[in-house]
Amino acid sequence: MKIREVTNTNTGRPTSDGAGVKLTRVFGGHQPQQYDPFLLLDAFGSDEAADYIAGFPPHPHRGFETVTYMLEGRMLHEDHLGNKGLLNNGDVQWMTAARGIIHSEMPQQISGRMSGFQLWVNLPAAEKMKDPHYRDIAAENIPVETIDGTTYKVIAGKTHIGDKEITGAVIGLSTNPLYLDVHVAPQQQVDIAVPDGHTALIYVYQDNAEVGDDKTTLNTGQLAVLSKEGSVRVRGNNATRLLLLAGKPINEPIAQYGPFVMNTSQEIEQAIQDYRDGNLTEAVA
Ligand code: MN
Repeated sequence: MKIREVTNTNTGRPTSDGAGVKLTRVFGGHQPQQYDPFLLLDAFGSDEAADYIAGFPPHPHRGFETVTYMLEGRMLHEDHLGNKGLLNNGDVQWMTAARGIIHSEMPQQISGRMSGFQLWVNLPAAEKMKDPHYRDIAAENIPVETIDGTTYKVIAGKTHIGDKEITGAVIGLSTNPLYLDVHVAPQQQVDIAVPDGHTALIYVYQDNAEVGDDKTTLNTGQLAVLSKEGSVRVRGNNATRLLLLAGKPINEPIAQYGPFVMNTSQEIEQAIQDYRDGNLTEAVA
């Protein structure tokens, strides 16, 4: 069996976004082609209300999807379509902005821990100007598989672990994303199938892991980009938790300006103009 090796690693850098939420930008904005179809991954985690309380007041998106996965905490989402949803521990919100959404993401707690992730998944040109779409997925509706003591929370996609097929809460997207939260049993080695040619990324958010036959060590807060063929092989330490993200590359030009991700600079200028004119979310005539 062919095993994917680590081709690149990077360590998230501290930043802030929204109205001043402290977070770690694991990747995003630089050399986007290596992450295709993913655009950005933010990790947030703090016990200090001052780090998150200001939240993300109303702001636009066009051209991609945002996926918010709460590990701990409560966050209220509201958008211009009247959608409203409260994300609690373990819940996921999968928001397809497509041609335009204006939404807010605001913490609903004034103390305690808030932690989780926001992933941006790109859309192909053919889907960037479609109607926006939104879904809240409660934690109890996200499949969790336990195989030899390792648990796999299957947020999106289909794969197999040995002979065991596993299917996530979100399937059928054109980028075919696989999004797993894996709690690896102590010292266990696991192999996870990913289609050849798909991008595969591993982000360790607790303890450390060895990746590939080369046993490249990834520490907490490190991301690995893997080679393009074969299965993903990971060996856990004592309490390893990691995200596995995989998807089909879109292979189109990426033009990004803040919350807008299109294919050309003209389309970005159009998005900015549409937002200024109050037309970001209007159907194309
Ligand atoms: Mn947003």
